[in-house]
Amino acid sequence: MSEILLKVEQLEASYGSIHALKGISFDVREGEIVSLIGANGAGKTTTLRAISGLIASKGLISLRGENIGSIPSYKRILKGLSQSPEGRGVFPAMSVRENLDMGAYTRSDRDGIKRDLENCYSLFPRLKEREKQMAGTLSGGEQQMLAISRALMSRPRLLLLDEPSLGLAPLIVAQIFEIVKKLNKEGMTVLLVEQNAQMALKVSHRAYVLETGSITLSGRGEDLLSNEEVRRSYLGI
Ligand code: ATP
Repeated sequence: MSEILLKVEQLEASYGSIHALKGISFDVREGEIVSLIGANGAGKTTTLRAISGLIASKGLISLRGENIGSIPSYKRILKGLSQSPEGRGVFPAMSVRENLDMGAYTRSDRDGIKRDLENCYSLFPRLKEREKQMAGTLSGGEQQMLAISRALMSRPRLLLLDEPSLGLAPLIVAQIFEIVKKLNKEGMTVLLVEQNAQMALKVSHRAYVLETGSITLSGRGEDLLSNEEVRRSYLGI
């Protein structure tokens, strides 16, 4: 079995009196795609925000054995975390290329940045075609491609993807998940948060089910796909 890349133990987070995460524990190993699935409001986005350091949390967050739970968000990027946020969060008044350059702002290795830019363009040729176009004028699917690419431009060890399927047509969703699989085959470790449990479980090595701030079930993606409780609650089967 590969090494543990991310380990989360007893993670807690609150918004005022709302206890959004009630002490969750899980891990992601090198080379895996791991999903967190769950209904609206279960705490999936909160988990990613806590890992990225965008909100305060309690508990342990370690990356390759190093406790990163108390360092600021930008330093977590330097340690190898990068997040593609829910709702994409591209900079609408900047061009595609400028958005990608923003993703590399922590780096100074010009040759490496150039190679990664070419790599993003070969993963998503549409972005190359629209290099000079303002990001706000892209379609939803293109913006999602840009958000993922921007996250890749910091050359992460662990890519955090928040709801990449949100609001997209099924064909585009399928394309995005194909790319996630391809990235993973090329060596990228991925922590994926999704309401689209079916798609997420299909591509994931392992997954955790989150319910109102607690993990209630975990297992291999394919096993959860055939789990009665998951099928009833999350797959509508
Ligand atoms: P969704 O798919 O809707 O994003 P989620 O599983 O990602 O759902 P979270 O967004 O993490 O869920 O929300 C977990 C809980 O925290 C919910 O009860 C939500 O209402 C609450 N919450 C999330 N963000 C805030 C906020 N900024 N202020 C107050 N409460 C919040």
